[in-house]
Amino acid sequence: MNKNDLIHILATPDRLELERIRGAAEETLLRCCGNKVYFRGLIEFSNLCDNDCLYCGIRKSNRRVARYVLTKEKIIEAALWCGEQGYGSVVLQSGERCDEKFIGFVEEIVAAIKDKSRTPAMPEGLGITLSVGEQSEATYRRFFAAGAHRYLLRIETTSPELYKRLHPANMRLPDRIESLNALRRAGFQVGTGVMIGLPGQTVEQLADDLLFFRDIDIDMIGMGPYIMHHDTPLSAWRDVHERTAADRFDLALRMIAAARLLLEDVNIAAATALQAIDPEGREKALSWGANIIMPQLTPTEVRHDYQLYDGKPCLDESADQCRSCLQIRIAGAGREIGYDSWGDSRHAINKR
Ligand code: SF4
Repeated sequence: MNKNDLIHILATPDRLELERIRGAAEETLLRCCGNKVYFRGLIEFSNLCDNDCLYCGIRKSNRRVARYVLTKEKIIEAALWCGEQGYGSVVLQSGERCDEKFIGFVEEIVAAIKDKSRTPAMPEGLGITLSVGEQSEATYRRFFAAGAHRYLLRIETTSPELYKRLHPANMRLPDRIESLNALRRAGFQVGTGVMIGLPGQTVEQLADDLLFFRDIDIDMIGMGPYIMHHDTPLSAWRDVHERTAADRFDLALRMIAAARLLLEDVNIAAATALQAIDPEGREKALSWGANIIMPQLTPTEVRHDYQLYDGKPCLDESADQCRSCLQIRIAGAGREIGYDSWGDSRHAINKR
């Protein structure tokens, strides 16, 4: 597929043609990755962040957020619950900090989860994905040695102009790209993704994002529609409402299909942000080529304080309710849950 093919998928107004594209993406998913949907229990363990991305609700300048760090015990408890449910993998996510206290803390919880989650069903313990931002290669190596084996670092956009517009001057696109390369050198399976439907973003830029995923040989993708957070500088931009929520949702599904058709055997998450716009957003994503879901394990008492965007769904459901709800949604989409498995992407497995 070339850039024009991708632009066609992202922009065609022909609904019949779009349904054909959706069907082709679903067929590619089933052929290359199988029918299973894998869970990654999501633990948002801290909303402290040293960065100031202009779109993000937990940016350091937002003084209206109550800041928290979960205790090591709480994080391990949530991860082990996840293992008991047969989820197979957890994602540890937080704001970005590069101080030694934070790095040592992450290292310690990764090692502890790995150690305590070994069972006869999963002798190698839970699969651990980290999503804690841009770090040095030495830090990535420490996290990998502690037992994490996947890392999600969203590029957000590969357009230099848009990246610059969305970030403070100290954040640079080339550094972000170098971080993705450093993750690979450190041994990680690497995930990235973008926000879809940003103010000023074109379908040509999104097509370039997809080609970037291919060119850096990405293993997994986590991307979703841009949703405004009211306490951010970006919410005041004049063009913030240039696309409706329905348009951004539609574009996000097209991006999933295009990524599936282009990359075939990578893992693609059905982002929670889709459900913020459409109650059936995540099921729809499954039928457009996604195969990963991230059930919420963050304790409900702090979940309200981890809102990157307005209207985040599932803020009050317990982990148990979340599990039951997802089981119904996945069965409704005609798919099976892949229990007691890390659910690494075929793409990563085929590279071994
Ligand atoms: S997007 Fe990430 S790095 Fe940027 S402000 Fe939000 S939590 Fe921090």
